[in-house]
Amino acid sequence: MSVELPEAKILAKQMSKELLGKRVKSTHVQHYEKLQKIGMLNKDIKAFDQLVDGVVESTTSRGNGIRLKLNNGVNLILAPEYGGRIFFHKSKKDATGKFHLKVDFADDSALTVRLTSMGLIHTIRDDALERSYIFRRDFNPDVLSPIDPEFTSERFAELLSGNKRMLKSVLVGKDAVVVGLSNSAFQDIIYRARLHPKRKAAELTKEETQALYDAVTYVLLERIRLGGKDQFLDLYGNRGSYTPAMGPNMKQSTCMTCKTPIEKLSLGGGHIYFCPKCQK
Ligand SMILES: [Zn+2]
Repeated sequence: MSVELPEAKILAKQMSKELLGKRVKSTHVQHYEKLQKIGMLNKDIKAFDQLVDGVVESTTSRGNGIRLKLNNGVNLILAPEYGGRIFFHKSKKDATGKFHLKVDFADDSALTVRLTSMGLIHTIRDDALERSYIFRRDFNPDVLSPIDPEFTSERFAELLSGNKRMLKSVLVGKDAVVVGLSNSAFQDIIYRARLHPKRKAAELTKEETQALYDAVTYVLLERIRLGGKDQFLDLYGNRGSYTPAMGPNMKQSTCMTCKTPIEKLSLGGGHIYFCPKCQK
């Protein structure tokens, strides 16, 4: 159910098709107190009123974040990174499921957003965007996105060279050299690249760096091509069909390649599943 780079990309593209040029008629926020307490939603609920009368000018995604930019200087930043649902409804009457935020448009269509785990629903003005943690983290042009054309294997090798940290902190989290990779994508990627979770970036050979680069781009592009991960529902409620090669879904299973039982270790505040034989 998590929405990471590939899923955010799919949703932003579908939003472009459905929402561009639409005027916001009203917004409805409910069951939000808990989210507010932990900073997952604007502290002042009236902030969402600023969306009213704005026309959707663009919907873009970068990293795990989605930005709806309105023509009145207001943005809606959505990032259901650890779990959430974003649905489009042709008529607001169809928006019968649970939601935290519902945006009704002047043509009777609606968008609903619900967080089911850690994430963000944030209304913010253009001139305050830099105060948004997600905006600073994911929309920072100085940090490459692995699906940017500038993300070449040469550039990736430069970013890793001399980097003494373990691969996880190099690829995932706030100090990562790229945006948009989660712990879940990380497990899938290093299994495909046949690298042990505790390897350090600077120690990789040229061939291993290339294998890691190939795995990063393969996993992200394949997830986009297959409509997202298998638990993900897109803007229309269609399920994705990408199954990670490694991750919690492989708990108590054996490796697809060598049949060795899959092991688990704790690393950087999360669990990593891996094959102790294939991943060196
Ligand atoms: Zn194996």
